[in-house]
Amino acid sequence: MNCPMCNRPLKSAKSIAAGIGPVCARKLSELKDTADQDQLKMEIVAEEPPEGQMVIDDYLNEGAKH
Ligand SMILES: [Zn+2]
Repeated sequence: MNCPMCNRPLKSAKSIAAGIGPVCARKLSELKDTADQDQLKMEIVAEEPPEGQMVIDDYLNEGAKH
């Protein structure tokens, strides 16, 4: 029996019983965690970008005058 994720042969009886290799099982659970985090990000992204470009432009104009 092979792992359906990476197609490598499952070595341990535990993996065969689970039907997936331990590494891929962990990847799957990490993917689930990431999906939850992405949902949180969607709510945070609405923030406006930080100011600072105005300050840099003023500094450059100041330098051009001298
Ligand atoms: Zn695998």
